[in-house]
Amino acid sequence: MMPSKIPVKFECKRCGDCCKRDWDLRLDWETITKWIREKRGDLLYHVVFHPRFIMHPEYSNYEPILIIDNGHSLFGDYQKHVCPFLVMTSGGKASCKIHDVKPLICKEFPFIPDENGRYHVRTDALNLCRAVKDYFKKCAQAESKDLDEYMQSIPKMEGEPESVPIPRELAEMLKRRYQTLSKEEKATGLLFPEFRNKEYASRVFKRSAKLFKRMNLKVRITSHKGMSILDACLREDISKIIEITDTIRKPAEAVMREYFERQT
Ligand code: SF4
Ligand code: SF4
Repeated sequence: MMPSKIPVKFECKRCGDCCKRDWDLRLDWETITKWIREKRGDLLYHVVFHPRFIMHPEYSNYEPILIIDNGHSLFGDYQKHVCPFLVMTSGGKASCKIHDVKPLICKEFPFIPDENGRYHVRTDALNLCRAVKDYFKKCAQAESKDLDEYMQSIPKMEGEPESVPIPRELAEMLKRRYQTLSKEEKATGLLFPEFRNKEYASRVFKRSAKLFKRMNLKVRITSHKGMSILDACLREDISKIIEITDTIRKPAEAVMREYFERQT
């Protein structure tokens, strides 16, 4: 985190990389409430339930998790993760079409507030955002350290920031909406494009659940790690699966090879 004594300015490069990643563009409840109240159908059109909620609603205590549809790897085109609100100008600069009403996560990135409400540059975005890297490089220079040395000397971020608590009423309203969707509505995939691939998704989930069991992986399918493995399973990217699973349990390679050989 940013030590206050260092007067280094953070300068966003407007590259748009943070809007083009395979991560959750999770909607905070203040934003979604605002969009609903203002009847912003143009924005709500791009809202989908998180695959984790769709497949395993019990993990979020049946409370919906909503994200902007950026082609989530589990359901969309896993090669293409782009927020629908991203615009690249002719000069190659990223611009947000909904700047004034964008979700909190976008307003804050790559900063995070501490318990006193003071914002810091996210250390966990070091390899995700070139401006964050530049920022920490400058901080390191200011202390006559190299980047690694500097990063080791400052407190690290751990995981995602806490999500904003979900207002019960809104959660209930959305849950009811989800439960009462007709087959046709689901089939349109308009609000819930995940359903377009429901069969496929459930096949992948089943297959992965079996796989995780065989590999004796102590990882929940719905955890970030589990989802990354699923993503790799979808692409049948054995080396990626091994890379991830190696951090959990070794060795996975033999099991994976045998598994895919049996599939073909
Ligand atoms: S915050 Fe970082 S990744 Fe996002 S546009 Fe700015 S420089 Fe690029
Ligand atoms: S809402 Fe705007 S800032 Fe957020 S990911 Fe989309 S384009 Fe980027």
